[in-house]
Amino acid sequence: MTEARETAGQIEYYSRAMKAPRIREAALRLADQARDNGWTHEEYLAAVLSREVAAREASGAETRARAAGFPARKSLDDFNFDHQPGLKRDTIAHLATGAFLTEASNIVLLGPPGTGKTHLAIGLGLRATQLGHRVLFATAIDWVARLQAAHQGGRLPQELARLRRYGLIIVDEVGYIPFEQDAANLFFQLVSSRYEHASLILTSNLPFARWGDVFGDQVVASAMIDRIVVHHAEVITLKGSSYRLKHAQTDSLPSTRPENQAE
Ligand code: ADP
Ligand code: MG
Repeated sequence: MTEARETAGQIEYYSRAMKAPRIREAALRLADQARDNGWTHEEYLAAVLSREVAAREASGAETRARAAGFPARKSLDDFNFDHQPGLKRDTIAHLATGAFLTEASNIVLLGPPGTGKTHLAIGLGLRATQLGHRVLFATAIDWVARLQAAHQGGRLPQELARLRRYGLIIVDEVGYIPFEQDAANLFFQLVSSRYEHASLILTSNLPFARWGDVFGDQVVASAMIDRIVVHHAEVITLKGSSYRLKHAQTDSLPSTRPENQAE
């Protein structure tokens, strides 16, 4: 009995020294189960370690999700596909495997306001954090402001290099406000710097045909769209009326700007 207590004390000491306090908990919790079920020593050790790894992965995902700057938590599971009959569950399920992240390919979500573009972007972003990728979410306007600050500080190349270490960057609301020429230029550099390195998710209430209005001219817009969609980008066009209005939900995502009307 005292021996068992001594061993428990040692486990506590060692797990704390390893900065893995959950090992102690799992070790005690699983010990009886192991004895009852006749686990081998190896099976018991594997079970204890697997609990620690699962807990670490979960807390890593949570840390990444908090660092991502999502305006709200929206999961793919909460997305109601009945409201988007044109969108196949399979398409989203495939994207949720994270294959697009390993391929460094992009996703573009188009459609009128309230059709779930931001919801899906966040859902896919959260999924990416669970798969171990670092993610950053911001509106197009915020991205341009960040890049402008870096540019003015003479550290744009460093900033773009830093951002490349994020497996996924989400640019929400492309097209709400047209860009000045230097803003369009900075945005183009962001898109170019990620080309074949890391993924982007963009959302816009404007179809590609109207991106010329956003970026000031059609040539810049075409070059941008080319860079974005050239390697099997998934372009998803959402349709219909605002989900919020139809379902009279109150959990609207914060939006400080009036929403342009899409066609
Ligand atoms: P958008 O970015 O296209 O303007 P949002 O993603 O902000 O639209 O959606 C507006 C609100 O409606 C959010 O609260 C979102 O969670 C919800 N919503 C939109 N479409 C769906 C859907 N198909 N299923 C569940 N919630 C949805
Ligand atoms: Mg939105």
